[in-house]
Amino acid sequence: MSVPTSIHEPAGQADAVSALEAGTREALLREFGTLYAELDAEIAAANPLCRTSGDCCQFAKYGHRLYATRAEALYFASRRGWPAEAFEKDACPYLRDNRCTARHARPLGCRVFFCDPAWKGRGEELTERYLKRIGILSERLGIDREYRPFLEHLESFRSGQDPAGDLGRSLG
Ligand code: SF4
Repeated sequence: MSVPTSIHEPAGQADAVSALEAGTREALLREFGTLYAELDAEIAAANPLCRTSGDCCQFAKYGHRLYATRAEALYFASRRGWPAEAFEKDACPYLRDNRCTARHARPLGCRVFFCDPAWKGRGEELTERYLKRIGILSERLGIDREYRPFLEHLESFRSGQDPAGDLGRSLG
């Protein structure tokens, strides 16, 4: 897998989401903070097994793709930035030594996925329920739902194709 040599680090939340209207920016950070905390608490209570193999973040190897809404990608960008250089899509550029280096910002799909056979079905149920909430939240914030591969969102920000990518241009 090709790993970018550098990854943008947010200079600060205000800079990272500067393209969004201030109220929207604050609501995005606040609402997703709450939503993810609730989700993480549900998952922690269920205690699924994770072998920390990092396999699930190596998309080509594992044979799946990570999808995310645009609002989730904006939240991620506001807290973690995005790769400074072009990157391959066969694995997540935030995977280092089999560990996620963006846990605080990672999207729903990362949080609900476990290869634990006993988890089967629960991940889907959580995805469906929380995606509904994210859809409602996105509508309230005036952010297009735009559910597509997560790395495409990051690439759009990096390349400037997504106008909201302006939100992180100040990151350098
Ligand atoms: S953000 Fe973290 S958990 Fe999600 S795919 Fe990337 S490395 Fe894995």
